[in-house]
Amino acid sequence: MSLLLNPEFINGFLAAVVAGVFTGVGGFLVFVKKRYTKSNINLMLNIAAGVMLAASFFALLVPAMHEILQLGSNPPTAALKYCLAVFLGVALIWVLNDFLPHEHNHMGHHGPKFSLRKAWLFIIAISLHKLPEGLAVGVAYSAGELINPESLVLGIALHNIPEGLTMAISLIGAGESRLKAGLTALAIGMLQPLGAVAGLSLIGFGPAVIPYAMALAGGTLLFVVINEILPETYGYKQTEKSAFAVFGGFIVMTYLFMVLE
Ligand SMILES: [Zn+2]
Repeated sequence: MSLLLNPEFINGFLAAVVAGVFTGVGGFLVFVKKRYTKSNINLMLNIAAGVMLAASFFALLVPAMHEILQLGSNPPTAALKYCLAVFLGVALIWVLNDFLPHEHNHMGHHGPKFSLRKAWLFIIAISLHKLPEGLAVGVAYSAGELINPESLVLGIALHNIPEGLTMAISLIGAGESRLKAGLTALAIGMLQPLGAVAGLSLIGFGPAVIPYAMALAGGTLLFVVINEILPETYGYKQTEKSAFAVFGGFIVMTYLFMVLE
């Protein structure tokens, strides 16, 4: 009960709701423009990947690294513990990924040939990683003075836009209405505050736990970018443009991060 009334808990939860809403904003972009080409969507996802990479490094992985080094144990032990925490994050989402059936969708819209089942499998894949993203937001708010959580929230919110749009497009491709597609994207975005609650439950745990949780959350985000977002877009022949889009997203997020510091 006291946790629910904690201002950090409330702020973190609301931040995750706001970030999650951007998945819906992306979903409702199907009303703005009737058709998005596959290459446009890929570029947006690539920018999102760059944004996420910068956000996971600067908002979680690097501050956790410094904090763990300062905690007192000798550098080799500290480094080992840190690396284990990052790896645990990767392993966690990897296992979760394998556990639930899902499919990497090669979105685009070549008419209604898309099966509804396939569209939903793709949506499950995206939904799955909304939880660790929410977890990262929750952990960031549990970290108190350690980091600036707003920049992480901003990064996650930005990357939610193309993800929401891709989900909505795959549903439309499977024959759903634009309204239902947009609403589904919004609903799935709400998994982020759910994940955030898990991270926020660490409020009050202090420096013995929080930096490791940050490293773990950073690891899960890296896995999402490397295993879910990038392969999806790199499968499409457009590598140079894609690479520039990733760098572009990375640079923009780096800039925003420094400005927000
Ligand atoms: Zn995502």
